[in-house]
Amino acid sequence: SVSGASHSNAEAFSGSRGINYMEGDFDWMSGLEARMKTVFGINDFRLCQRGICNANMDGRDIVVVMPTGGGKSLTYQLPALLTPGCTLVVSPLISLITDQILHLQGLGINAVAITGSTPSGQKREILQQLTALAGRRLQPGEDEIKLCYVTRRIKNFVILLQKLMAGGKLARVVIDEAHCVSQMGHDFRPDYQQLHKLRQLLPSVPIMALSATCPPLVLKDLLKTLRLPDITDGRSAKSTGTVYFFSPLYRKNLHYRVVPKPSKASDVSKAMVEYILEYHPNNSGIVYCLSRKNAEVVATELQELSNGRITTGVYHADRKDSEKEQLHHQWRAGTVKVVCATIAFGLGIDKGDVRFVLHHSMSKSLEGYYQESGRAGRDGKDADCILYYRPQDGSTIGSMVFNDKSGTEKLHAMLDFAEDLEQCRKIQFAKYFSHSSNLSIASWTTEDQDALERCGHCDNCTRPPETIERKNVSLQTWQLLKIANYVYRIGGKTTVNILAGLARNAGGGALDVAAGGKGKRKAKEKVNLDLEDIAGGIVDLHKDDIEHLIIHLLIKGYLKEEFQQTAYSANVYVVPGGLANRFIHETRENIEKAARPMVEMTLAKQAPKTRARRKKSVEDGNEEGDDAPPAKKRKTVAGASK
Ligand code: ADP
Ligand code: MG
Repeated sequence: SVSGASHSNAEAFSGSRGINYMEGDFDWMSGLEARMKTVFGINDFRLCQRGICNANMDGRDIVVVMPTGGGKSLTYQLPALLTPGCTLVVSPLISLITDQILHLQGLGINAVAITGSTPSGQKREILQQLTALAGRRLQPGEDEIKLCYVTRRIKNFVILLQKLMAGGKLARVVIDEAHCVSQMGHDFRPDYQQLHKLRQLLPSVPIMALSATCPPLVLKDLLKTLRLPDITDGRSAKSTGTVYFFSPLYRKNLHYRVVPKPSKASDVSKAMVEYILEYHPNNSGIVYCLSRKNAEVVATELQELSNGRITTGVYHADRKDSEKEQLHHQWRAGTVKVVCATIAFGLGIDKGDVRFVLHHSMSKSLEGYYQESGRAGRDGKDADCILYYRPQDGSTIGSMVFNDKSGTEKLHAMLDFAEDLEQCRKIQFAKYFSHSSNLSIASWTTEDQDALERCGHCDNCTRPPETIERKNVSLQTWQLLKIANYVYRIGGKTTVNILAGLARNAGGGALDVAAGGKGKRKAKEKVNLDLEDIAGGIVDLHKDDIEHLIIHLLIKGYLKEEFQQTAYSANVYVVPGGLANRFIHETRENIEKAARPMVEMTLAKQAPKTRARRKKSVEDGNEEGDDAPPAKKRKTVAGASK
């Protein structure tokens, strides 16, 4: 049993349930708690801190994903005090290190730093002390270095580190902001890549990786790069493996909403002006745009359409340093209220009272969206995060990311979020950031379980149930895949737009096929499609819903993207995917009489006026949605199949 008296590690390992670092009792706990209070002045552990300290004391390899401000530093600083030898900490920024050193020295802890800006005399002295530490026993009362921070280039003192290791004086290597190791993270640092040698150079030294944003793909890459063994859950850990801790990254004061984005560009600006003037006429905000040009146009439109009531500025990589600096200044002073920016506007924004972050286009990944929208409400007060979404943006962004490692996969996660009309936004984030292979949500502690309760205030939590409906779209799926497959077979390619148009029989069934026979692009051919023949008629869904269904089928693998590089970007085509065969070899009758729906989606009920087939719906007496307030009349489809 793990409860009751104090246990050693071996005792705490209780059969198939593994080691519970979060709740088990360990010999060192009273020592940890005493130092936490007396040295750090902290009374209680929070989030996963207790478990991480235990795994640390137990000499395990560890990965920690905890939100910024969650208290990751304590999880290595506290154990460092109770472990013989020195803890080496690799951190990417000198400013982060300086903060830590000042803090630790203020607490009376012997902590040092070796960075590019350390004076050479001081550096020599530190290295001498460490060499002494490696080689001999300390005299009683002699002060040993407990924490040594470095920015990079451990290469320069590998031999010293190996000596420390040999003398049992290298307690652990900590890698802060560990997502910088991965090229798939948004903050990759080439300097960090050399860390892949750590395990080989220092085989007996435990490694600890800390990060605030480490989605599944980045985590996988990080483990591989650092040569860390597979992860095991910190609440039921195996006796081998990298112990993994995760705390949900939820901020209560952020109010998330996805709204339909008008297809006409100036209408988007109009919608934003109305929103800002109604809810945030005097507040500061950010509007994230997809391109530099886009940011400039939107800034001008917001200012003009509001008759100057909204003061805007532009920020992107092409602006001069002096212009950027001036903008920061105006934004702080409040003479510019709204910054229209590309994602270049980010690091170093420390303005607390950002009351809204609007996304003119969705981000390239959900972690990107989380970060950008997270610049709202840093002061802890309520703030709005609104994503203006339309399916075609998926193609635009798809053409930008298809060359990136896992670019399409990440974009699909973003699309999945944007398309969802039901799942609480907080839960979506929590699941996305925790879905690291074998971790089941069921193993979360009660504190984490809160993360799985609906937030109660996002768009999906407040959406009236009568405005959406679950719908069997198996037949429509069959039709779309039949059409896509037909076009593909005759050597043509469809896009989201073209496929949606075909499905609605727009253009009388004729199609410009970008024929790509044998890799060479022929002139566009006119091909007549007999929809009756191919798909048994037109697809009976609202125009918007067809687009949403296509995105849904892309995410699920019934359709897939195919990219064709052009001079400056890429065309994104939509072709049958791996799962299409389930449908295209079936007859319409079989699909229709299937006992259970093969694909289901949740879609917003259409307002009658915009129904594709108004006559039919009136005949059906199907007029619900009439009373729904305008904001709720979202003409979209979303959800998961089956
Ligand atoms: P992170 O690195 O996760 O962003 P830090 O380690 O810098 O966060 O900690 C953020 C702040 O929280 C620090 O001021 C730290 O002293 C404080 N802190 C850490 N743990 C606790 C705790 N258990 N209770 C109260 N404050 C804490
Ligand atoms: Mg930190």
